[in-house]
Amino acid sequence: MTAKNIFLSVAVPTPIRCLFDYLPEKNVKHGILQPGLRVSVSFGQRKNITGIIVLIKNKTNHPKHKLKRINHIIDDCPVIHKKHLDLLLWASNYYHYPIGEVIHNALPALLRKNKSIPDYLENFWSLSTLENNNLLSIKSKKISPVQTKILNYIGKNRIPISEFDLINIFPRVKQSLHALEKNGLIKKENKKNIELSPKIIKRVVKLNEHQKNAVNTIADSMKKHSIFLLDGLTGSGKTEVYMSVMESVIKQKKQCLVLLPEIGLTPQIIQRFKNRFEVDMAIQHSGLSDIERFKYWQDAKTGKAKIILGTRSAVWTPLKKPGIYIVDEEHDLSYKQRSGFQYSARDLLIVRAKRDGVPIVLGSATPSLETINNAEKNRYTRLILPTRAGAAKKPEYQLLDIQNKKMHGPLSQTLLDEIDKNLKLNNQILLFLNRRGYATTLYCHKCSWKAQCDRCEIPLTYHKSNNRLHCHNCGSSKENIKDCPLCKSNLLRLGHGTERIEEVLSKKFPKSNIARIDRDTTQKKDSMDNYLKKMHSGEIDILVGTQMIAKGHHFPNVTLAAIVDADRGLFSTDFRAPERLAQLFIQVSGRTGRGKKKGVVIVQTYNPKHPLFHNLIKHGYNYLAKSLLKERKLSSLPPYSYIALLRVEAHNIKHVKYFIENASMRLKRQSEGVLLLFGPVPALTEKHSGRFRYQLVIQAKSRKVLHEHIDNWLQEIEKMKSSKKVRWSLDIDPLDMN
Ligand code: ADP
Ligand code: ZN
Ligand code: ZN
Repeated sequence: MTAKNIFLSVAVPTPIRCLFDYLPEKNVKHGILQPGLRVSVSFGQRKNITGIIVLIKNKTNHPKHKLKRINHIIDDCPVIHKKHLDLLLWASNYYHYPIGEVIHNALPALLRKNKSIPDYLENFWSLSTLENNNLLSIKSKKISPVQTKILNYIGKNRIPISEFDLINIFPRVKQSLHALEKNGLIKKENKKNIELSPKIIKRVVKLNEHQKNAVNTIADSMKKHSIFLLDGLTGSGKTEVYMSVMESVIKQKKQCLVLLPEIGLTPQIIQRFKNRFEVDMAIQHSGLSDIERFKYWQDAKTGKAKIILGTRSAVWTPLKKPGIYIVDEEHDLSYKQRSGFQYSARDLLIVRAKRDGVPIVLGSATPSLETINNAEKNRYTRLILPTRAGAAKKPEYQLLDIQNKKMHGPLSQTLLDEIDKNLKLNNQILLFLNRRGYATTLYCHKCSWKAQCDRCEIPLTYHKSNNRLHCHNCGSSKENIKDCPLCKSNLLRLGHGTERIEEVLSKKFPKSNIARIDRDTTQKKDSMDNYLKKMHSGEIDILVGTQMIAKGHHFPNVTLAAIVDADRGLFSTDFRAPERLAQLFIQVSGRTGRGKKKGVVIVQTYNPKHPLFHNLIKHGYNYLAKSLLKERKLSSLPPYSYIALLRVEAHNIKHVKYFIENASMRLKRQSEGVLLLFGPVPALTEKHSGRFRYQLVIQAKSRKVLHEHIDNWLQEIEKMKSSKKVRWSLDIDPLDMN
C-alpha cells in the first residue's frame, strides 16, 4: 500500500454503530500506523476527540475528497494489541453495542483523554539498609505495634506507596509510615519499573485429596483451553486451589487474571496472595485513582504484574503472557454490567480464554444454572470439593415456622433465645435481611392510604436514622409524616428493615455490641473495612446486614446465621428468583461454623413446607439446581433458549407504547415462526424516576438465530422516528427482567 491510498477505520466514542474512515496525517512515515494506536480526530462538532485505529486499509466506500484527515497520532506504540482489539470487536458484535463505546469503556480513564501517556514514576517504601537484614534489632527501638506490623509487611521487599492505601489493613498507616521514616527505619525510593523477581513463599496448608485432584487436573491441561467448574462449598478451600494453580503459572513466568465479585472482598484476597507470592500485582476496580488504574493496567500489559486481580471491569485488562483465568463466585450478579454497555464479565472471560488458548476456572459454592447445565453436558470439567477444609463442619439448618409465633418486630422469640444462647458462649452472630431502613410501608388503617413515591409509584421506606421517607427505587426522599394526609389518623409502620432489627436487638441485649452493615452505614470510604476489622477482632457480637454481608467473608467465630425473612424470593415473577433465593440461602449459611465450632443456620419463614426449602436442606444445592433446570427446560427458558430484552422508557407513556409496539411488529414481520416473543409488557417496576418503562423479550432456540435477527432488527428500529422520543437499550442474556 502506498501512503497515497491508506485509509484508517477509526473507532470513535459515539452511539453510532460503525467505524469511521479517516485519512492519515500528511507525510506520515511508513510503518508507524498500526491498529490499536490512539489518534486525535475531529468528529461532528467536536474538534479533538480520542479514537483508536481499528483497521488500516487501501479502499474506502466513501468519496475520498470528503474524508477528513486525523489531527495526529497520540502514542508511539499501540495502547491495545491486535488480539485484544479483536476481543473488543467480538464483544461489540455480540452485545450489539457500538464499537467506539466498547473500546472507550475498556480503556482506563487516562487513556480516554487526548494526551500522551504520562511517564509513570512509582515511589516505593523499603527498609533502610541499616536494618534490612536485621528485623530483630528493630524490636529494641521504641515503636508501636502497628509500626512493627508495617516493618514486617515491608520485609525485604519494595512496596509501592499506593499499596498501603489499597490494602488498608493498618490503622493510621500514613502517620505510622511517617514516623518510621523520621526514625530512619524506612526510606522512600523513586524508581521506574522495578520488577520483583517472582518468589513463592512456602505453602502453609497441606491440600486435601480433593484439592490435590482439582489442582492436578487443572495443571494437566495448562497449555490448552479448557473450562473448569470448581464446585465447592464456602470454606471448602477453593482459594487454596486457585493459589496452587497460580503458583505453577507464575513459575512458568506467565500471568494470572482473577475476577472477584466485590471491591469489599479484595483487601482480604490481596492479603492472602501477598502471604503466598512475592510478585507484582495489578489491581483493577472502581475505587482506584485514574493514575493507579493506569499504572496497573500498564503493568499487566507489559507482563510486569504476574497477578491481576479485580472486579468486573478487570476483564478488559490486556495481558502479555496469560497463563490462567479465574472467576471466583461465578454466579454472582455483579459480573453483569447493569447499565450502558451491559456485558457479562464472566461470559466474556470464557470467550477470551478460548481465544487465548488459556484454561479458565469458574469457582462457586452455588454455580449458576447455566454453568451447571454446561457441566452436565460436559462442556465444562467439574471438580468437586465436597467437604469444608480443615476442621470446619457443615452447618445445621433449622426451618423456623413463624406462623402464630410470638414476634418482636421481625425476630421470633425462638430466634432471640438462640441468639442469647450463642452470646453466652461468646460466639458471634450474623443476621441477614435484604432490606434497608426501619419500616417498608407507612399505612393508614382507616382509609388505606399509603406513602408512595410520586415518581415511581412504589411504597416509601421509613428510615429512622434520619427520620425520612426514602424511595429505594429512584433514591429520592422526603420528610417523615406521622398522620394520614387524608383522614388525619395515626399512620402504621408495616414491614421491617435492618434498622428495626438493630433496634430490637439493642433492647433485648443491651450489653452486647451490635453493628449494622448496609448501604446506609457504609457510605464513607473505610466504613465497610472498619466493620469487618471489628468483626474479625471479636469486638462485634451481632452483625446485622443486607446482601453485603452474605458473600465471601470468613468469620471463624460465627456460629449462628439467620435469614430473617426467607419468603420474599418464593413468589416472585422473575423466573430466576428461585435460583437467587437458593444461592443466597447457601451463601448466608456459608458464613457460619467456618472455624472449629459447629454452625447453625436459622431460617424464619411462613412457608416451611415449600419444596424449595425442602430440596435445598434435604438434598443440597445441586439437587435443587437440577430440579430448577427441569422446570426451565419444560418452559423453554434459559439455558434452554437464548433471550434478549428490549427496555424502553420515557416520561410520556404514549411514546413508550408507540415505539415498543412498532418495534415488536417489525420483529414479528421479519421472523415469523422463528422467534418467541413476550410482550410488550410493563417492566416489573413500571415507573422509575417519573419515567414509564416497558419491555419486550425476544427469545430463540439458538444463539445464532437470535443474533442474526437482532442485527437486522436493530438497523430498522434505529431508523424509526419514534426511537428518538424514548430511551431504549438492548440487553443480551439479561439476568433480571426489571
Ligand atoms: P473457599 O475459597 O472455598 O471459601 P478457602 O480457600 O478460603 O475456601 O479456605 C477456607 C479456610 O480453610 C481458609 O482459612 C484456608 O486457609 C483453610 N484451608 C483451605 N484448605 C485447607 C487445607 N487443605 N487444610 C487446612 N486448612 C485449609
Ligand atoms: Zn387515612
Ligand atoms: Zn422513586
